[in-house]
Amino acid sequence: MGYGKKIYDEAMARLEGRRRQAEAQAGQRLEAFYRQCPQAREVKGQMGSNAAKAAKAVLQGGDVRAELEKLRDRGVALQNEYEALLAGHGLSLASVSPQYACQACRDTGFVDGRMCGCLRQLQRALAYEGLSMRVPLGKSTFENFSLDYYQDDPRACQQMGNVLRVCKDYAARFRGDSSSLLFKGGTGLGKTHLSLAIAGQAIEKGFGVIYGSAQSFAVALEKERFDRPSPDGPGDANSQLVGCDLLILDDLGTEFPSQYVAAALYNVVNSRMLAAKPTIISTNLSMKDLEDRYSERFASRISGYYGKLEFIGTDVRVQMQQRRQARQ
Ligand SMILES: [Zn+2]
Repeated sequence: MGYGKKIYDEAMARLEGRRRQAEAQAGQRLEAFYRQCPQAREVKGQMGSNAAKAAKAVLQGGDVRAELEKLRDRGVALQNEYEALLAGHGLSLASVSPQYACQACRDTGFVDGRMCGCLRQLQRALAYEGLSMRVPLGKSTFENFSLDYYQDDPRACQQMGNVLRVCKDYAARFRGDSSSLLFKGGTGLGKTHLSLAIAGQAIEKGFGVIYGSAQSFAVALEKERFDRPSPDGPGDANSQLVGCDLLILDDLGTEFPSQYVAAALYNVVNSRMLAAKPTIISTNLSMKDLEDRYSERFASRISGYYGKLEFIGTDVRVQMQQRRQARQ
């Protein structure tokens, strides 16, 4: 999948940064070694002139073979001497060589003229970053999801305990073909918190996750409708929303209503369902509302294929505010 020139350039710039850093650090380690062991620098120099002599011997002709054999033996001896000096300082060839993030392409992005997996992965991550909301994932984890706010209502407490357990289990077992989930309930009941906790774990496992509000996706989809399609092929918001491993569509129904967006969201949801890719949708709307606002097909896709989790209780943000006020 192509992601467009902008993302490609940014990915290449990041790879170049990695490569330069790896090479600069290796250069520093080598210099430090030569300072401790000037003899090694000398041996390295001899290795260079030995190789140059071999090239010259080939050009000069004469008894090339005997001369080359001699030079090769000399080269092997120098190499052994060099490695012995390294070992004498507790080092190896690897420890004074660049430690590339990707050994396959040495952080160049290409192996034998073909794009390396690391460059593809990096482009994907950059594209998803661009579409995802800027939320610090570390702030919404399972560990800091508190059931305290539901204590006053035993039914809510039990239900939210179940919801938490299901979400934890879902995240722990998450795979590219996991089922889809619908988080239903009012604002401030933890829908965003738990979907971000799932996103965090899926990202940690290496899955490509896009998370955002229906409003932010609506803006991206609308923008794409008016911009000319990119000449680089399907590197657009729509195909990324369809193609990512996990899509988290938060606050469905709060976006500015538009027929175009409703159709585009249906297309995303439907295409992901056909490709057996998981989606987590959170909404305050009932099935009837979904049907009225989007379409009957849209509502029936969700009611037929999504595991439903009801979030109940009293708005956590309101409760936090009340507690703060009570303390003052
Ligand atoms: Zn690579």
